[in-house]
Amino acid sequence: MGAGAVVIVGAGPCGIGCARELVALGHENFTIVEARSTPGGLASSVVDPQGFTWDMGGHVVFSHYGEFDHLLDDVMHGDVERHERSSFVRIGDRWVPYPLQNNLHRLPDAVASEALVGLIDAQRSLATMTASDDLPVDFATWMESMFGEGICRHFMRPYNEKVWAHPAAEMSSGWIAERVSVVDWRHAVDSLVRRRDDLSWGPNNLFAFPSQGGTGEIYRRAAEPLAHHIVYDAPITGVDLEIRTVTTATGAVMSFDHLVWTGALDRLIELIADAPDAVRTAAAKLVHNSVTMVGVGYATPISDPGSWFYFPDPNVPFYRATNFAKYAAANVPGARTDLYSSWMTEIASSSWRPLEAEGLGDRVDAALRACGLVDDDAERVSTHVEHIPYGYPVPSVGRDAALRVIQPWLMAHDVLARGRFGAWKYELGNMDHAVKMGVDVARSLVSDSSEEAWSL
Ligand SMILES: Cc1cc2nc3c(=O)[nH]c(=O)nc-3n(C[C@H](O)[C@H](O)[C@H](O)COP(=O)(O)OP(=O)(O)OC[C@H]3O[C@@H](n4cnc5c(N)ncnc54)[C@H](O)[C@@H]3O)c2cc1C
Repeated sequence: MGAGAVVIVGAGPCGIGCARELVALGHENFTIVEARSTPGGLASSVVDPQGFTWDMGGHVVFSHYGEFDHLLDDVMHGDVERHERSSFVRIGDRWVPYPLQNNLHRLPDAVASEALVGLIDAQRSLATMTASDDLPVDFATWMESMFGEGICRHFMRPYNEKVWAHPAAEMSSGWIAERVSVVDWRHAVDSLVRRRDDLSWGPNNLFAFPSQGGTGEIYRRAAEPLAHHIVYDAPITGVDLEIRTVTTATGAVMSFDHLVWTGALDRLIELIADAPDAVRTAAAKLVHNSVTMVGVGYATPISDPGSWFYFPDPNVPFYRATNFAKYAAANVPGARTDLYSSWMTEIASSSWRPLEAEGLGDRVDAALRACGLVDDDAERVSTHVEHIPYGYPVPSVGRDAALRVIQPWLMAHDVLARGRFGAWKYELGNMDHAVKMGVDVARSLVSDSSEEAWSL
């Protein structure tokens, strides 16, 4: 039969990556159905009434895959700014270069000493474990075993509580790989004694950003040649796997041989009328947080303290603040960074850590001024809020078991759920992963090849 009629739900990076590859492989029998009126999904951007551009939270472009590099080159034609990360953690009244655990010498002496002693104690205990001992599996135990009490108390625990809005004890540690820097205590002692900064850790220490239009520009451009395949403003409200149809909110019915779902996996299971109880129960175990992006624009020239900043302090409303005009001048009105600057902040919430919506813009503005990123006399000229209901797919302890129930059942019905919330894997949660998963799906449908990025 081959790929037959393919319906792709979602015109975000994964759906667009899939569609571009189908076209490249000569398979034109597909439709993208998108709930919103624009492409890009979580990687889209908006311009507010005052002329400031905002992303849905701090996005930077970096890549593990040639397929993503190809998309970027193909659609942006070099219209990107290239940056070296300059990122700091706010501890008390200090800015410590990120990752904090690699730069202990920038902490106050007493805190640095506590952090180092804890790190050595923790890693000595780990070293005495025998191969038969279980390595810690939950994130809370994992971070204590790797970093010790000092680093956990001053940074890892409060910061992760803010960003995940979920108890670390209920998260797994299987996702960590390149997302958290694990510093060896010998390296930490050496850096501390030599008072040497270690700034280059991690895959995003060099990143790109579109020269204009925000991150969303990538997918706006990528979607243009696919326009005749895309149906916008068409949220899918029903999925029938028996007769292989999807239904939109306006009642349109579309048939498929293969369904590629890039929306939230738990929502998909809710929409399938006759999903078995075991699959429904598994889907109910998937955990996510929400993210609220509060962007604040100022009529004051850009200052250049760095790219983005982490805030473990529970009294600061946001977990991260991005110096967004630094990414691209066009993110402020008229590209006039001699007149304007902009700060994009992110706040995570969940039922466990509810959002305090009251006076949010004012509290964000006050916190930016209190830590010195914004001058006292800077005039605030824009406050833009975007609430993102599905922000981070939480790698909860029960996630993998739930996915092992859901995904094989879907695949047996020719449904491929991929992308950030389709796959529900934070470790595959970035734009490059999403595009690569989409490309892999197209190849698997047309030429029966195995997927490379996604696995159960
Ligand atoms: C706060 C934050 C910061 C991030 N930072 C970075 C970063 O620095 N670098 C990076 O590479 N990535 C980053 N990401 C991740 C990036 O946004 C995602 O990897 C990417 O957008 C995922 O693409 P996707 O296509 O899988 O899913 P999405 O972008 O979620 O797209 C899914 C699409 O499906 C549509 N859809 C959903 N349900 C339905 C339905 N029922 N009917 C029709 N359409 C539907 C949605 O409207 C959406 O357009 C960040 C994400 C967040 C939230």
